[in-house]
Amino acid sequence: MRVILLGPPGAGKGTQAQFISEKFAIPQISTGDMLRSAVKAGSPLGLQVKEVMASGGLVSDEIIIALVKERITEADCQNGFLFDGFPRTIPQAEALITAGVTIDNVLEIAVADEEIVTRMSGRRSHEGSGRTYHLVYNPPKQEGLDDITGEKLVQREDDQEDTVRNRLNIYHEQTKPLVAFYSGLTGSDAPKYSRVEGVGAVEEITRKVLAALE
Ligand code: ADP
Ligand code: ADP
Ligand code: ADP
Repeated sequence: MRVILLGPPGAGKGTQAQFISEKFAIPQISTGDMLRSAVKAGSPLGLQVKEVMASGGLVSDEIIIALVKERITEADCQNGFLFDGFPRTIPQAEALITAGVTIDNVLEIAVADEEIVTRMSGRRSHEGSGRTYHLVYNPPKQEGLDDITGEKLVQREDDQEDTVRNRLNIYHEQTKPLVAFYSGLTGSDAPKYSRVEGVGAVEEITRKVLAALE
């Protein structure tokens, strides 16, 4: 199964992706996690994208498309994959179609802007895996530490309030049009489009998300 998770930054895409990935045995492909690893490693790609990521802007379509195309040729993608944070622009979505990559399900997780700002200020992340927690809504078992590895959690540089607002503006301008794009596709190759409200307990949303993919 090939799935796209759509929704604003902080909607809970990463949080829900781990459950979908487990249930359907497909890898989670988070372009954000891939880019953050490159920045951390100081690779040429990392050096190229570091500044734009810190400001909350989008990395160029060209870079992202090349990155994703290469990733989906890897062996673990044979039975499908879950895109988390990709596509983020109409040209990225069109590139998939041009490359002949069909999608089975597009799942939108909808959350209003003010809720996003609250969530992001409390988000804490495990750098190695991309797992995220929330200080209040989804705390780790031990304060400040990842549940699985026990390693330290960090606050992402781009989760400061000003940067979050910038990312939300960019979401509305560049990514939100994908809702109309995907829900408007017709034909035998068109994906099934589902929308789930992303406000409520994590487990409750997981239940709705998995039901939409059945
Ligand atoms: P969030 O999970 O908060 O929505 P991500 O981890 O998906 O954020 O992305 C972090 C940053 O990485 C983005 O603000 C952007 O700079 C860059 N990025 C990730 N995916 C894409 C993409 N598909 N196109 C352009 N930039 C991207
Ligand atoms: P915006 O208006 O900021 O572009 P949305 O259209 O996603 O963003 O609306 C924000 C919130 O309004 C959503 O999280 C959802 O709760 C509610 N909402 C908007 N449109 C719908 C809809 N068609 N069905 C259900 N809820 C909706
Ligand atoms: P995205 O990948 O869409 O950017 P995340 O999965 O990283 O979003 O979630 C953003 C923040 O919101 C994290 O701190 C996460 O723990 C928290 N979060 C996720 N789901 C919920 C929820 N249903 N209610 C409250 N907070 C949530």
